Amino acid sequence: MSSRDFLEKDYYKTLGVPKDAKPDEIKKSYRKLARKYHPDANADGTDRAKAEERFKEISEAYDVLSDTTRRKEYDEARSLFGPGGAGRFRTPGGAGAPGGGQTFDFGDLFGGASGGGGLGDVLGGLFGQRAAGRPAAPRRGADIESSVTLPFEESVEGVTVPLRMTSEQPCPTCHGTGGRDGALPHTCPICQGTGQTSRNAGGFAFAEPCRECRGRGLVVDDPCPDCSGTGRAMGTRTLTVRIPAGVKDGQRIRLKGKGAPGERGGPNGDLYVTVAVAPHRLFGRTADNLTLTVPVTFAEAALGGEVKVPTLTGAPVTLRIPQGTSNGRTFRVKGKGVPRKDGTRGDLLVTVEVAVPAKLSSAARDAVEAFKAATAGEDPRLGLLDDKGV
Ligand SMILES: [Zn+2]
Ligand SMILES: [Zn+2]
Repeated sequence: MSSRDFLEKDYYKTLGVPKDAKPDEIKKSYRKLARKYHPDANADGTDRAKAEERFKEISEAYDVLSDTTRRKEYDEARSLFGPGGAGRFRTPGGAGAPGGGQTFDFGDLFGGASGGGGLGDVLGGLFGQRAAGRPAAPRRGADIESSVTLPFEESVEGVTVPLRMTSEQPCPTCHGTGGRDGALPHTCPICQGTGQTSRNAGGFAFAEPCRECRGRGLVVDDPCPDCSGTGRAMGTRTLTVRIPAGVKDGQRIRLKGKGAPGERGGPNGDLYVTVAVAPHRLFGRTADNLTLTVPVTFAEAALGGEVKVPTLTGAPVTLRIPQGTSNGRTFRVKGKGVPRKDGTRGDLLVTVEVAVPAKLSSAARDAVEAFKAATAGEDPRLGLLDDKGV
């Protein structure tokens, strides 16, 4: 019986018992069926051949289900890989990690179930049968982390920056072979080129990188002195990276395929750039809006007027202040904020701050005194002290 049988045959159905059947129940059902289909009880012709076949199936099912250990193995195999279970672990076609993240991938564990080996090989690994050696699959390059600090304007409008970074790449001395003078490597004898060895724990095999070849799947007789036979070396590259408009302080941008080069035709890793944004002298930012504080005179606030305010990158705009504007009021200038992905922009939020002159000319002082006299009856603190009965 091969482990493949575990997936294809429903032993419970064969014995006509439920999946949670007790040992007694299994035994009883087996005896009943065995008596019925025993070849001696079906002495002649085509019936006998059919009964023989059925009797074999029943015996096989009973062999497994009556043995606690094997029944457990069978249940586990079917829940993982059998009908209704296999889909969860199907290996994605091609190389590379499925959709990022740490998906537990049985294809990786056993050298690629989609590579033609099929589930039989997967189970071969699970149940201690020797899986056939397979050359190591193309390997995706490593992801690289980098960071950049941008002036405020560039973070808003987007910018192309040169990024110097150190990453793993093919060793220039041996051209990536790992052998002295570029000698070609050969398949690792320990892992048969898979780059992984499996360790058994609790009846399950867990893959770990092969120690002999350090996961490469290849070994060299005479290692390249510069890379110690790994075929990889740290190197510095300068990449021109486009930082999209509207990037926020602390944001991490993924640049697909800009990471370390892949191996054996595998795709490149990704580059992650964490962006720091330097503060601006005038402008701030909340979400897609830019913020700006603009001083206005008391006269402008009281009488209303037009105030010219700067925008971050364009020409200044004229803001109409209505009469009776109080200190701290915020005005919205549409479309002068941060660019969004859909091509629209946030707004510029202008907050007015009434400026009080530190010094007054005598003419100004006279004017303010006249204003004071003219507004003598108005008390802005009316009601403030009422509760105290003053
Ligand atoms: Zn080398
Ligand atoms: Zn190895």
